[in-house]
Amino acid sequence: MVQADLLIQAGHEGRTSGATGADGPLGGEQEWTPIVADEATRILREAGVKVIREDAFLGGKYDVKVAVFVHFDASSPSCSSGASIGYDDSTDQDAAKAWKELYSQYWPFKWMPDNFTSNLKNYYGFKYTRTSDAELVLEFGELTCLEQAEWLKPRLKWLGALLAHFLSQRINKGNIADPGPFGVGSEPHSDPSNWSQFYAGLQQEGYIIPYQGVENPTLRRKLGKIKEPFGELVEFKDQKFVQGKVAWFAGKKDQLIADDETATLTGEVLRLLPNDDYYCAMRWNYQAGMQFWKNRHLLVVNPQNDRAVVVRVIDWGPNTETERIMDLSPQALESLEAKTDDVLLCAFSNTNPTSQVLGLIS
Ligand SMILES: [Zn+2]
Repeated sequence: MVQADLLIQAGHEGRTSGATGADGPLGGEQEWTPIVADEATRILREAGVKVIREDAFLGGKYDVKVAVFVHFDASSPSCSSGASIGYDDSTDQDAAKAWKELYSQYWPFKWMPDNFTSNLKNYYGFKYTRTSDAELVLEFGELTCLEQAEWLKPRLKWLGALLAHFLSQRINKGNIADPGPFGVGSEPHSDPSNWSQFYAGLQQEGYIIPYQGVENPTLRRKLGKIKEPFGELVEFKDQKFVQGKVAWFAGKKDQLIADDETATLTGEVLRLLPNDDYYCAMRWNYQAGMQFWKNRHLLVVNPQNDRAVVVRVIDWGPNTETERIMDLSPQALESLEAKTDDVLLCAFSNTNPTSQVLGLIS
């Protein structure tokens, strides 16, 4: 019997046969679970918490307050799973619920029910532990789902920090703070390319950021143009962006819109939008439905100073006569230190309305 405050296991670590773990497009469990487990262990030990850190090979009996087994899920077809929790006893439920509440503040994808597979409910590690609080298998997400993997991969150490916070709270020892939203540090300008971790390309679920030459039925219906006339495809710091001129719109100061005019996607009254909001409009293709675009997050970068904002999509426009690709909120333009008709870059952001990331990020 070994005693400690906590047991943290990196699932599948070290196995060359048998349950070697899931592999996904951006990495596998054997690579990812030790990163999460190591970071959590490091932070907890620095705070004076006694942690046993194990790989896939457990033996004997661990006498701890909480045991966690770090995993990522795989599923077929991909993206049919998400985050989940496994445990073998109803006394674990309180801790499971607390983890779910904490992680839900950040995790933007779905949750599967607790113990939704027999691997979760009958995890082999349970028989090696004796816990006073709980033993949990934590599946942090589905790494075979590209969208989830893109969210998870840059956050592996951050997940370790979140886990350390959770465990510290659970055992009331170490007093480790919640790391807060990933990448939103107190000094946003310390890393010049901080925005790169939010970058999510020019295409999502088959929808694209409009750029020059792309046919767009919505543009045709609204303005009688078959193809998008503006927006150049460029590369900036190894990432592809759509580049073009921008201006600001909506809010109290916008004299060009009627008092009761609303945003086509969100229905918000444009002139009543708060001064400090971050939103945008582009000439989207609505053909496959507007739901995809509503409050979708975009990353907008000013290549002159590397400042970047995350904005939400609320409306369609501007008119092509402006020769601009995008309208932004006054605050977004100000945060980017840009002015009307400056050339900016845009792409999808990997955040969404539940990520609690909006505004200046770099
Ligand atoms: Zn696993």
